[in-house]
Amino acid sequence: MADKKKVEISSRRRFFTNIAHNVGLGAMGTLLLAGYAQKAKSSPLTLRPPAALGEADFIKTCIKCGLCAEACVNRPQNRDKEGNQKKGTLKMAKANDSVTIGTPFFTPRDVPCFMCDDIPCVPVCPSGALDINKVTNPKTKKLDFKMMDMGVAVVDVHSCIAFWGLQCDACYRACPLLDEAIKLQYNRNSRTGKHAFLEPVINPDVCTGCGLCEKACVTEKPAIFVLPREVAQGKPGDHYVRGWDKKDQQRVKDRKASDIKTEDERSSKTPVDYLNKGLEY
Ligand code: SF4
Ligand code: SF4
Ligand code: SF4
Repeated sequence: MADKKKVEISSRRRFFTNIAHNVGLGAMGTLLLAGYAQKAKSSPLTLRPPAALGEADFIKTCIKCGLCAEACVNRPQNRDKEGNQKKGTLKMAKANDSVTIGTPFFTPRDVPCFMCDDIPCVPVCPSGALDINKVTNPKTKKLDFKMMDMGVAVVDVHSCIAFWGLQCDACYRACPLLDEAIKLQYNRNSRTGKHAFLEPVINPDVCTGCGLCEKACVTEKPAIFVLPREVAQGKPGDHYVRGWDKKDQQRVKDRKASDIKTEDERSSKTPVDYLNKGLEY
């Protein structure tokens, strides 16, 4: 009888030990899966190759073949004087890159995009994740590196030494679209009264996000850096109208009656657009 009880206790103990073991493994599995999912998702700061689709579509379309990165590293300009191949711009993400594993991205401070005339990384893409139409000039039907859009450069005015009054134009000189994507703005230094500030200013409509400026920046942590456009720029909202912009005026003309919000709808959801008051809606 005592033996039977002992057997019962030990089999019950085994039962609970097994449950605890399985629950432990299950929890560990969930944690590992969560960790994997975390790693599988790209950081919102990820910079993709030229002509990449929007992030959600890019992830669905890219087949992770690596042909873009191969074309980038093999471009003839990517060799030093002795003929040795240098690091390419595009990298295929590994487990600890905070980018969806196996997809291409670049880190400008490491290797920026050189805005190649022939954009060799784009035509080789077999899936359409890099859309050649995005970098094809509709008038000339030729590839146009000025149409690249990988992100936009942003200046941290607190760490950029040009904003302290020190002379530096490293980013300005590095830009392939000098005086278009980046300009130096003259400002009087009222502290000294006799010096000038020459401050770098970005034109986000022209900047391609190549990151040559970020690579050239002389500060320890770059004071100019590239961010994905949707991270760097806000969105004013469709109800704002720039009276001096022909496209905006056309937008107003093309509006259908059903698009127009009542005063109540506008004031409950959006700030009052007093600057545009008086304009025809
Ligand atoms: S355009 Fe930029 S990413 Fe493409 S091959 Fe040239 S350097 Fe590489
Ligand atoms: S070539 Fe296209 S499909 Fe292949 S890894 Fe590059 S973006 Fe993805
Ligand atoms: S990222 Fe910098 S270097 Fe490249 S186009 Fe923009 S301002 Fe010029």
